[in-house]
Amino acid sequence: MSDCCSSSNTRQLCYECGSSCKSVSMSTLYHQVRSPENQSIVSDNYYFCSTKICLIAYFSNTGNTIPKQYLRNYQSIQNNALCYCFDIDAEQYLSALKDQRAESIKAFVIQRTQTGECACEIRNPSGQCCLANFKNLEKIHRESLT
Ligand SMILES: [Zn+2]
Repeated sequence: MSDCCSSSNTRQLCYECGSSCKSVSMSTLYHQVRSPENQSIVSDNYYFCSTKICLIAYFSNTGNTIPKQYLRNYQSIQNNALCYCFDIDAEQYLSALKDQRAESIKAFVIQRTQTGECACEIRNPSGQCCLANFKNLEKIHRESLT
């Protein structure tokens, strides 16, 4: 497994929406924020707010914030991206779950992740492995069936 899957993150509440947010590395920020805003990021300890409708992308305890609109992945976030490394969105995976095709998609992602061919730290705005997103969606799918 690459680092993205085993990193220990600290958490902080988003002061805009109140959700629990995980810390991210500066290299994640530099790859996520668009130009020219990426050239004026203040080095700090940032947290990523994954709430889709929250305006804040990254924030620090000292008041530095970066809005979601500044992210290169802004459109992907709006489209419910699931896996940023391999371009899989929630809609695709949900329809795969319904058609019993989901296993092979997930197996592909797990295999790539295990061989270190994922790039979550720079591709995913959260800097986190996307496998948790798959599990969340499977849970939503299961609950929709009951
Ligand atoms: Zn938020």
